[in-house]
Amino acid sequence: MSSTDPMVIVGGGQCGARAAHALRENGWDGAITLLGDEGLLPYERPPLSKSVLLGQKTVGQCAIYDKTFFRDQRVDVRVDASVTAIDRAGRKVILAGGDRLAYRRLLIATGAQPRRLDLLGATLPGVHVLRGAPDALAIADELLAGQRIAVIGAGFIGLEITAAAVARGCEVVVLEAAPRALMRAVPEAVANCLVERHRQMGVDVRFAVQVERIAGETRVSGVQLADGTVVPCDAVVAGIGVTPRTALAEAAGIDIANGIAVDETLRTSDPSIYAAGDVCSFPHPLFGRRIRLECWKNAEDQARVAARNMLGHSETCSSVPWFWSDQYDMTIQIAGLPALGPTTVVRETGAASRVFFSLDANGVLVGASGVGQTGEIARDVRIAQELIARRSCVEPALLADRDTKLRSLLVAQAS
Ligand SMILES: Cc1cc2nc3c(=O)[nH]c(=O)nc-3n(C[C@H](O)[C@H](O)[C@H](O)COP(=O)(O)OP(=O)(O)OC[C@H]3O[C@@H](n4cnc5c(N)ncnc54)[C@H](O)[C@@H]3O)c2cc1C
Repeated sequence: MSSTDPMVIVGGGQCGARAAHALRENGWDGAITLLGDEGLLPYERPPLSKSVLLGQKTVGQCAIYDKTFFRDQRVDVRVDASVTAIDRAGRKVILAGGDRLAYRRLLIATGAQPRRLDLLGATLPGVHVLRGAPDALAIADELLAGQRIAVIGAGFIGLEITAAAVARGCEVVVLEAAPRALMRAVPEAVANCLVERHRQMGVDVRFAVQVERIAGETRVSGVQLADGTVVPCDAVVAGIGVTPRTALAEAAGIDIANGIAVDETLRTSDPSIYAAGDVCSFPHPLFGRRIRLECWKNAEDQARVAARNMLGHSETCSSVPWFWSDQYDMTIQIAGLPALGPTTVVRETGAASRVFFSLDANGVLVGASGVGQTGEIARDVRIAQELIARRSCVEPALLADRDTKLRSLLVAQAS
C-alpha cells in the first residue's frame, strides 16, 4: 500500500456520496475515488416513489451533490465505473474495462437490488420494479389517468407507488401474498391504518393472494392468481423487497450474513475494507442482534461512521433506526424496530394522527410508529427515539395518555 493510494468507495448512491464528503470533512486530504455504475451523479432514491412519480420533481433535482461540489471537494467521481472484482491481496479493485485501481481503504456501498417476479410473463413489457431513476421514469409513463395498475406487494414501496398512481387518476389493485400489509415492518394496527386509507381512496387491496403468472401476449394484460382469477391491468409494478448487492464481496471471500457482515465499526472480515448502507448487516448494540436496514437515514449515518473509521477512528454504529414514508397527505415515521415488540400501545396525537408504541416482553420500548400529519407525530416519534436509545421501560398507560408529555417520561428516566 502506498501512502498516496486513494480512499475508494464502490457504489455511488446515498451512502457512497455521503461517505466521500465525510472523508473530506474529517480531514482526509488525499485522493478519494467514488465509483458508480448508474451513469448519473449520486441521487436520492426516496423521491422516486413519491414526487418523481407525481411529476413534481425531475431526476436531476434529486442529485445529492452537483459536479462542482465533487470538483471542489476533489472527489474523483466516476459514474460509469462498474467494479467487477476486488483483489484483496493486491488491495485493488478491478473495473469492467479491466482497469485496476489501488485503494488505501475500501468502502463497499453497493446498496440493494429489487427482487424480481419469478413467474411466467414476468419479463413482458409493462412489468416494472422500482430502484433506480430509469425505473421511476418508466413507471411514471404508465401512470396515465384511467390506466389500471396492479401493484404486487403491500410493502412501503408498493404502497407509495399506489398512492402516486391514485393521485395520477389510475385504478389500482394491490395484491399481497401475506395476510396483511407491511408484515415485517410495523404492528398490525399501523398497517391497518394505512390500508384503510388506501381503501378509502378507492384502492382494491387484496391479501393472502398468490400470483400465478403475468398474462399478456406482447405486453402485460393482467395478473393471473392461483385460484384462476385474472385481474386485468395495463401495467404491473412489483414491490416485493430487495436483496443486498453482495456479489463483489462474496467473490472476494468476505464474510456474508444477510448482507456483508461488518462489525460494530462497519469493518468487514478484511480489516482494510468497510461496508455500509443497505448492503451490510451489523450488530446493533441496542437490540443485541445483527440487523440490516434499508433506509435513507441509516445510509447517511453509516456513511459518516464508516468514513471516520476508515481514517482510524473506532466509532460504533448505534443510532436508533429511523424511517419515513409518504402516502397521500399522510406521513409515516418509524423509530426503532417495532417488529420486535409484541405489545402495541396507541396514543392519539391529533384528529387523524396516532403514534403506536411497541414494547417488548420486558416492557422495554423498542419501536414507535407515527401515522398522520407530520406536525402531529414527528415530536413524539423523536422523543420515542431517545427513550428507545435508553432502553426505557415505560408504563403503557402513560404512553397512551396524550395529556402526559412524552418528554416528561424522558426526564423521569434520566432522574
Ligand atoms: C424508490 C425508493 C424509495 C425509497 N423511499 C425511502 C423513504 O421514503 N424513506 C427511507 O428511509 N428510505 C427510502 N428508501 C431507501 C433508501 O433510498 C436506501 O436505503 C438508500 O438509498 C440506501 O443507500 P445505499 O447507498 O446503501 O444504496 P443505493 O442508494 O442503492 O446505492 C448503491 C449504489 O451502488 C451502485 N453499485 C452497485 N454495485 C456496483 C458495482 N459493482 N460497481 C459500481 N457501483 C455499484 C448501485 O448502482 C447504486 O448506485 C427508498 C428506496 C427506494 C428505491
